[in-house]
Amino acid sequence: MFNERIYNFSAGPSMLPLPVLERAAKEMLNYGGSGMSVMEMSHRSKVYAKIFADTKEKFRAIMQIPENYEILFLQGGASTQFSAIPLNLMGLTGKADYALTGNFSTAAWKEAKRYGDAAVACSSEDTNHNYIPEALSVREDASYFYYCSNNTIYGTQWKSVPEVGDIPIVCDMSSDICSKPVDVSKYGVIYAGAQKNLAPAGLTIVIVRKDLLGHAMPQTPMMLDWKIQADNDSMKNTPPCWCIYVLGLVCDWLEEMGGLAGIQKVNEMKAKMLYDVLEQTEIFTCHAQKAARSDMNVTFRTASSELDALFVSQAAEAGMSNLKGHRMTGGMRASIYNAMPVEGVEKLCDFISDFDKNNR
Ligand SMILES: *Cc1c(COP(=O)(O)O)cnc(C)c1O
Repeated sequence: MFNERIYNFSAGPSMLPLPVLERAAKEMLNYGGSGMSVMEMSHRSKVYAKIFADTKEKFRAIMQIPENYEILFLQGGASTQFSAIPLNLMGLTGKADYALTGNFSTAAWKEAKRYGDAAVACSSEDTNHNYIPEALSVREDASYFYYCSNNTIYGTQWKSVPEVGDIPIVCDMSSDICSKPVDVSKYGVIYAGAQKNLAPAGLTIVIVRKDLLGHAMPQTPMMLDWKIQADNDSMKNTPPCWCIYVLGLVCDWLEEMGGLAGIQKVNEMKAKMLYDVLEQTEIFTCHAQKAARSDMNVTFRTASSELDALFVSQAAEAGMSNLKGHRMTGGMRASIYNAMPVEGVEKLCDFISDFDKNNR
């Protein structure tokens, strides 16, 4: 039992910034003098319409999303977009090329194969996805090129936007969206489940260049058709109202942190602290190769699964939870998204150092 908040290193859903939770709590029972909680409001009400429009505007500002992109607030998680992406885009030429750098991109590729000729542009499967391949084979007539910018399970991250000429790039940014500035104009589609870095689970954000709307295959389910969602401003049905409201609070917090350039500095510092301390130890190794190391999910292990288990349980007792790695990588994983305070990473670094000395 904990009487105070602990450092939660969960990969997702994950920590939200404390000031956001405090504000949500303060506004919980009576939002802005409306006499009700945001959870209880009609999505068509005036009060909620303002929350929705303001959040969209704040999100556009924080990510510097150009006007020729639609922002959609959808449900179904990132995984539902694995189907929506080919359904909306594969019809352009019938072909799409996928970079397979982890579990989620592979799942997205498998889904795309149901709708057309989905080929592999590169793969890091040969060494359990511990690196980002440099060479890409992308067909000139591909409808789109797909990649996942941060591989949550394996702890690898693309360090630049792949060069694929004029082919629209579709990117799963679920686990590093808003962790640093990105040039949205380089992308056709950016999407993310919100529960890693932005909001509670239940909201999926899709940022789509407007010329890519309106190409959905005839069999596309109504709710997965981005054009229909854009024409209805994401209100074809009830949107995830509460999550969108929290996203607005997170945008305010990001603004206070100096925007995405500000949070990037903190994120890079936190990641460096952890990788540096891991390198100084004798018993720990990192899963990801150095050039591909993620600033969001740090994957590491000892030589023994018993020792890994001891690490996870002792860390939990010390108030640092969810450090067990994914079953596909084993070992440990520290997810240090935007909301993880520097103090949490410092505490983990000290713990790693001590554990190293005590278990050599
Ligand atoms: C968590 C995650 C997903 C899956 O998200 P859901 O919203 O649970 O479907 C997909 N891609 C990446 C990169 C993720 O981190």
